[in-house]
Amino acid sequence: MSAAGNKAGDPAYSIAIVGGGIVGAALLHELSRYRVRTVLLDKHHDVAEGITKANSGVLHAGFMVPRGSLKARLNVEGIRQYKALARDLGVPVQSCRKLVIAKDDTELPYLRRLLDQGTENRVPGLSLINHRQIRALQPAVTGKYALLSEETAVTLPYQMAIAMAENAVLNGAEVMLNAELTAIGRGASGAYLLHTADGRRVSAKLVINAAGVKADEVMGLLETPAETVYPWRGEYQLLEEASTEVVTMAVYPVPPQSGGGLGVHVTPTVNGGILLGPSAESIADPEDTANTAEVLEALRREAFELVPALAPFQTIKTYSGVRPKLFGSGSPVRFKDFYIRESGSRPGVVNLLGIESPGLTAAPAIARHVIEEFIAPQCELLPNKTWQVRRDPIPRLRHLPQEQQRRLWAQDPAYGDILCHCEQVSRAEVVQAVNNPLGAVSIHAIRKRTHATLGRCQSSFCLGPLSREILRQGYDIGAVARGLPVHPIFEGMETE
Ligand SMILES: Cc1cc2nc3c(=O)[nH]c(=O)nc-3n(C[C@H](O)[C@H](O)[C@H](O)COP(=O)(O)OP(=O)(O)OC[C@H]3O[C@@H](n4cnc5c(N)ncnc54)[C@H](O)[C@@H]3O)c2cc1C
Repeated sequence: MSAAGNKAGDPAYSIAIVGGGIVGAALLHELSRYRVRTVLLDKHHDVAEGITKANSGVLHAGFMVPRGSLKARLNVEGIRQYKALARDLGVPVQSCRKLVIAKDDTELPYLRRLLDQGTENRVPGLSLINHRQIRALQPAVTGKYALLSEETAVTLPYQMAIAMAENAVLNGAEVMLNAELTAIGRGASGAYLLHTADGRRVSAKLVINAAGVKADEVMGLLETPAETVYPWRGEYQLLEEASTEVVTMAVYPVPPQSGGGLGVHVTPTVNGGILLGPSAESIADPEDTANTAEVLEALRREAFELVPALAPFQTIKTYSGVRPKLFGSGSPVRFKDFYIRESGSRPGVVNLLGIESPGLTAAPAIARHVIEEFIAPQCELLPNKTWQVRRDPIPRLRHLPQEQQRRLWAQDPAYGDILCHCEQVSRAEVVQAVNNPLGAVSIHAIRKRTHATLGRCQSSFCLGPLSREILRQGYDIGAVARGLPVHPIFEGMETE
């Protein structure tokens, strides 16, 4: 799949995107509408293994970001585009609405400021409500006043990134996995030559750096980074599915003054269960996604102040994600905008730094912004006449009415063979996940596509059956376990 340029010395690709998170995937997808040769490189065995895998999954309406900022514009445009794209690609979006809670009169001015900011950002569906109205909407939620947002929704960020990347590939774009960019040079034609850790080379006219927490490091391969990316970890815990009966809306506090995040909130998830978090802690290593006992304890304490009735529910999973902030914890700065600019000294290289929240919501709008501002002026973008949003999501047996389940069993008996009992995931779903257009094969890749292992047992019972199925599909389970590029173990064997 990799290419170092053709004989005439032209770059093999017009555009190379570094980073297969939600931003890189959105850009790859948007570019697949045009007849332009594009490749996306990611260092992991699958897309969406960075920040996109571990966040709150909230589609923000756009009232939390300062008026006039790039974040505000791309957030407000992004939420509409995200919802429309998710419909086309069969990715779940669940309208949950949001309450930002003021616990007493001292916090009320903050809600008024948010309402004004939201109005100026042209966010629809905002209103201030009192404690009686809060209780009428969500009986379990405490608080004296709240800002109610009708537009807020939750989604599965990693499934959206996968869906966009898969659809882009079906429309002719290319993805290189296990491709860590380690050096960038210039070829004779002036094209950029991208070198990966495993010795592959890719040449491209334009390079888009969407490497998340590593975006400053990637920029540093060519020049002094314009900004330093400071990692801030956010820890989470997920409560068992029954907790969803207590609260159905996203419930946020007035954020802390540190500028570290939006505060510990309570969020219903698309898969069921209530998410508590995130914390906001400045850390040294951008890839340190550990969980700590003290923070997990603090999350429960703060979340239960908003919704005390959640206290009896058990935690079934903990995880953490890392924000790529453009200021450190000691800095007096409390807000920095997205940095999305073409390099002054390396024309054709566009760097995206500090794509923190609301980066998930804004991703489709970020993609369009990059194309309009930086790619279109340098690349002829003729329409891809065969382009279509064509993606049949893997049916989730568990959520289908019985009649449809029976029809699937009749079509393919593998739908009756349940491998993950907590999430009711069948062998047929797992087989579809293994045979994905990106060629990503790992337990993680299957989990992200089917929800297998995500239930109450958290893989204690289903890991064995899943591994057996990967083997049965002809893949090298040892390579899968080590996250290495996988090859069908029967590839090359002569068959009749
Ligand atoms: C705790 C937390 C909560 C959040 N909550 C929300 C929310 O509710 N709503 C919202 O809108 N936003 C939220 N965000 C922000 C949102 O998650 C991010 O803005 C978004 O996921 C960033 O996506 P990305 O594609 O820029 O980065 P990533 O998803 O990290 O993608 C970057 C990719 O680059 C790859 N990469 C890095 N270096 C290299 C290299 N050298 N070679 C090849 N590949 C490389 C990585 O493997 C990675 O896959 C939250 C973020 C955090 C951390």
